[in-house]
Amino acid sequence: MNEFEFQTEQFVDIKILRYQVPGFENLSLSQKLLIYYLSEAGKCGRDILFDQNNFLNINIRKTLELIYSSYKGDKTCNEFLEFEIYLKRIWFSNGIHHHYSMDKFEAKFSSEYFDELINSMDNVDLQNILGNDYVDQLSKIKKCIFDQNLYKKRVVLDSDLDIIKESSNNYYVDCTQAQVEEFYEKIEVNPDKPISRGLNSRLVNKSGKLEEQVYKLGGLYSKPIEQIVHNLEKAKLYAENPEQLAVIESLVEFYRTGDLELFDAYSINWVKDLDSHVDFVNGFIEVYGDAMGLKASWESVVNIKNIEASQRTEIISNNAQWFEDNSPIPSQYKKKEVKGVSAKVITVASLGGDCHPATPIGINLPNAEWIRKDYGSKSVTIDNITYAYHMSSLNSGVLEEFSYDQTEIKRAKEHANLAGNLHTDLHECLGHGSGQMKENISTDSLKSYYSTIEEARADLFALYYIMDEKLVELGLIPSLETGKSEYDSYIRNGLMVQLSRVELGKDLEESHMRNRQLIALWVLRNCKNNEIEKIVRDGKTYFKINDYEALRILFGDLLAEIQRIKSEGDYQKAKELVETYGVKIDLELHEEVKSRYEKLNMAAYAGFINPIYKLKYDADSKIQDVDIEYPKDFAQQMLYYSNNYSYL
Ligand code: ZN
Repeated sequence: MNEFEFQTEQFVDIKILRYQVPGFENLSLSQKLLIYYLSEAGKCGRDILFDQNNFLNINIRKTLELIYSSYKGDKTCNEFLEFEIYLKRIWFSNGIHHHYSMDKFEAKFSSEYFDELINSMDNVDLQNILGNDYVDQLSKIKKCIFDQNLYKKRVVLDSDLDIIKESSNNYYVDCTQAQVEEFYEKIEVNPDKPISRGLNSRLVNKSGKLEEQVYKLGGLYSKPIEQIVHNLEKAKLYAENPEQLAVIESLVEFYRTGDLELFDAYSINWVKDLDSHVDFVNGFIEVYGDAMGLKASWESVVNIKNIEASQRTEIISNNAQWFEDNSPIPSQYKKKEVKGVSAKVITVASLGGDCHPATPIGINLPNAEWIRKDYGSKSVTIDNITYAYHMSSLNSGVLEEFSYDQTEIKRAKEHANLAGNLHTDLHECLGHGSGQMKENISTDSLKSYYSTIEEARADLFALYYIMDEKLVELGLIPSLETGKSEYDSYIRNGLMVQLSRVELGKDLEESHMRNRQLIALWVLRNCKNNEIEKIVRDGKTYFKINDYEALRILFGDLLAEIQRIKSEGDYQKAKELVETYGVKIDLELHEEVKSRYEKLNMAAYAGFINPIYKLKYDADSKIQDVDIEYPKDFAQQMLYYSNNYSYL
C-alpha cells in the first residue's frame, strides 16, 4: 500500500491535512453522482459564510487573491511571504478573524508594502473585483487590515459589553443587544413547535426600524442560493429512496421561501432518513458565530456511512434509554422516553462552508429542541477525519510532555484512539440528546452562556459513562482502562494542553474550550480527597488523577447541576459557573504551557484539503464514472474555489 501523506504544510498555528475517503470506489454510479452534486452544492455557499463573518471579507479576499495570482515582483522576499501567510489564514478561517479565538489577524507586512502591491495591480482588474468605487473600497480594506482596533473580534461574549455592537460579524447592522432582544422576544412562536427565530436572516437597523433581510432565492444571498438549489435539483435525480428525496425537496423549498417552518420540515425529514447510505448536511445550521446564538452560519457536509464502525454507535443508541434512566441528573429533567437517538460513524466525502477547512469531528443535529424531543436526532462521528488527526499527531511529543508518568503515556497509546472516538459518540449521540427542559422554559434564557453550558452537559454525560462497567458489558471497551485514559486526556487538555491555542493574557472565548476548562477546573477545585493532584516536578506542572472512581462521581455531580441550569434556564448560575471556571486563565500556568508546547513546534489547529471529484464520460458523452483525486496544494484549492464558486 502506498504511504498516504496526511500533512501537507504548516503555517503559524495551522497545519493542513488531507483525508481519505475509503469506500468511495465501491459505491454505485448513482451514489457517486449523488455525492458529486451534493459536494458541488457544498462549494456554492462558501461566499455566504465569508460575508456572514464580516462584511468586508469577500472584498479583502478577492483583492489579496488578485495580488497573489498576478503580482510580478519578488515573491520570495520576507514581506511577500508574510502576505501569503496572511491570505492563507483568511482562507483557512473564511475571513479576517481567527476561526477559534475570533480575534482579527495581525498583518505581519507593512501598509507601505501593501500599497506597493496594490499600485502594481491593473486598475481595471481592481475595478472588476471591487466595483466602480474601488478606490473607496481599497481604503476601507486597508484600514481594516492595518487598524487593529477596527473589527477587533468576530464574536464577543463578554457579558459586560454589548455583545451585538462589539461583535464584528455581519448578522446585525447598526443594532444594539437590547434592540435585538426586544425584536426577537416580540416575535410570537407556537410554544409546541417554536421556529428558530432569526436563524436565516440579517437584522438591519434602518433609521430606527429593525428589518430582517432573509437568506433565500430572491432575498439576501440569492445568487449563491440559486447555485446551491441548482445542484440540489441534480442531486435529487440520484436520491437513494423516497425519504432522502423528501429531505432534498424540503431543503430546496426552504431555500426558495426562507420559511422557517419549512426549515423545521426539512430537519424532521432529515432525522427520519435513516437508511440512506449517503447522507448530507446543507444549510444555515450552527449558531456559534452569533453572540446571541440566533443566527446560523452556512455549512455543508457530505458523507458515507461506515457500516462496520457504526456497530459501535448502534449499540450505544440501542441502549439510549438505559443511559438516560441511569444518569445522575434530577429525575424530573430526564427524558421519560428517549426517541430515536440514531447514531452512526461516517466517512466524510466533502466539506464546505463553516465545516471547511477546519471541521468538527462529530455532528449532532437538528438543533431545535422540540424536534429532538418529538422526532429524535441524528448523531455522527466522523472517523476518516479523526483518523487523519490521529495519524498526523503520532510522535508529536505532546503526550509525553504533558503526561505525569509512563503509566499514563502507555495507557494513552493503547486506549486513547478508542477513548476519543467513544467520547465523541457518547457526547454526540446521547449527551446532547439527553435531558429535558422544564415546562415553558426556553434555552434562549441562558443567552451567551448557552453554548458553553450545552457543550459541558454533553461532555459530562460522556465522561460520566465512559468509566461505567456497562460499557465493558456492552463490549464497547475492553476494560475501564479506556475510561481512565479518557479522564487523563480530558484533564490534561482542559487544564493545560488547550491553553497552547490561546494568546497569552487572553481569556477563553470559544464555547468548547470554555466548557473543557470549566469541567476540569471545577473538579480540581471541588475535590475533597485529592482525587486530582497538581504536582510540580523539575519546574513542570502535571495533573495526576489519584482516584478515577471518585472523579467519576464528581463529574456526575456537576452534570446534575448543569442539567438543572439548562432545564430551568438559570441564567445567574450559568453565568457564575462559566465566569468562575471557564473564562479566566491562570497566567503563570498559561506561560508555562505555551513555552513547553512551543518547544514541540506543533500547530494547534488543523484543517483539511477536500478531495476532488471528476465526472468521467464515455465516447457518447454519457457519464461513466466519478473519479476521486487527493490534491496536495491548499492554496491551489482555495483559489480554485474562489475562481469557480464565488457568487457574491
Ligand atoms: Zn457538542
